[in-house]
Amino acid sequence: MNLALTDTQQALREEFRSFVQTDLLPYANDYDKQGFIPMELIQKLGARGYLGATLPEAYGGRNMDQVSYGLLNEEIGYACSSTRSLITVHSSLTAETLLRWGTREQKDKWLPLLATGTSLAAFGLSEPDAGSDTAGIKTTYQATADGYTLNGVKKWITFAQTAHLFVIVAQGEQGITAFLVERDTPGLTVKPLEGILGTRASMLGEIHLDNCHIPAENLFGRKGWGLQQIVNTALDNGRYSVACGSLGIARACLEDSIRYAKNRRSFGQLLKDHQLIKQKIANMVTEVKAASLLCRNAGYLRDKKDPDSIIQTSLAKYHASRMANNIAAEAVQLHGALGCHDSISIQRYFRDAKVMEIIEGSSEIQQILIADHSIAGLSTIL
Ligand SMILES: Cc1cc2nc3c(=O)[nH]c(=O)nc-3n(C[C@H](O)[C@H](O)[C@H](O)COP(=O)(O)OP(=O)(O)OC[C@H]3O[C@@H](n4cnc5c(N)ncnc54)[C@H](O)[C@@H]3O)c2cc1C
Repeated sequence: MNLALTDTQQALREEFRSFVQTDLLPYANDYDKQGFIPMELIQKLGARGYLGATLPEAYGGRNMDQVSYGLLNEEIGYACSSTRSLITVHSSLTAETLLRWGTREQKDKWLPLLATGTSLAAFGLSEPDAGSDTAGIKTTYQATADGYTLNGVKKWITFAQTAHLFVIVAQGEQGITAFLVERDTPGLTVKPLEGILGTRASMLGEIHLDNCHIPAENLFGRKGWGLQQIVNTALDNGRYSVACGSLGIARACLEDSIRYAKNRRSFGQLLKDHQLIKQKIANMVTEVKAASLLCRNAGYLRDKKDPDSIIQTSLAKYHASRMANNIAAEAVQLHGALGCHDSISIQRYFRDAKVMEIIEGSSEIQQILIADHSIAGLSTIL
């Protein structure tokens, strides 16, 4: 297995880094404080094709391979996890899943709009009383003469405040089923959700569905197969995005820590010359490199459409999100009081990292998946 980047992938990484340095990193702390990302940024992401990175050119996408898409998520995550969250829910959870399971009509209608960011998408699975236990959702659908009626509440929905298209997962007579629901559907209202620990600019909302009538053609995937088809595909895609985004957080923490250690003095020496600080940096570098290899490996297998890519993506997400928490905590420690203050990014990375262990299947859910898979047979994991 050759995990080295191709010339094209390296060129793309340079492109992403240059964009992040000029258009994202300088503003990310302000976005975090104000609690939203501006529409101009979303337009820039759309114009560069970053909202339809993996979609085929026929739909207006950039047709990137999965390794390159991982690099995009890493570089955006390096600067701003809220913006990376937009890419996760819009591209990974919704557009890529629509590409796989949507009807020809659904793809022709939505993918060109999603690829450019003309329309934004969000994924409505979680509810006030159901998160990890996806089968426990209470939102209902009922078949009518010409479509379906939806009732219920979706909670913690990333970019619900701005999305035009929602995937809504609901319970009904024929089992759990997914639907495409447009924002202007009568009976649909979005309540902004404030006060979140991290990814504070990701414009969370609660979606209230009150006798929402949607047409028959908005059924997404097979009736009764909402979890097996739509949710499983979406979460697998989302895990890859979050794994790479977590890697970005950790790399930013590591780079900031080395820079600080080279300039801050204590006890007559630069921090970088204290043995205990060297130990921290050695551990951080090793952890970041291990996560990078797991993410690259998952991307490589995803490009090959290898079925083992699913469990390898879980491994990458589990490790990278936990690693980002450890590295961010060490970075706060290394920066002392400054690390606790919102004049620099470290405290934001620390808060954002925690969210990575909860979304797209919490660390405990990844542990269950990885352990069950390993107990059934280690050969596809190691
Ligand atoms: C910033 C943010 C953005 C989000 N965006 C979205 C979104 O766009 N769309 C969406 O649908 N949802 C979204 N969510 C919700 C997220 O997917 C859920 O929070 C997550 O699935 C966990 O569910 P829960 O919060 O209900 O926790 P619970 O499922 O109630 O779990 C509580 C704790 O128990 C643990 N646990 C649960 N079951 C087990 C078990 N069997 N064994 C061991 N431990 C267990 C969990 O890991 C967790 O630590 C978002 C959440 C956050 C914080």
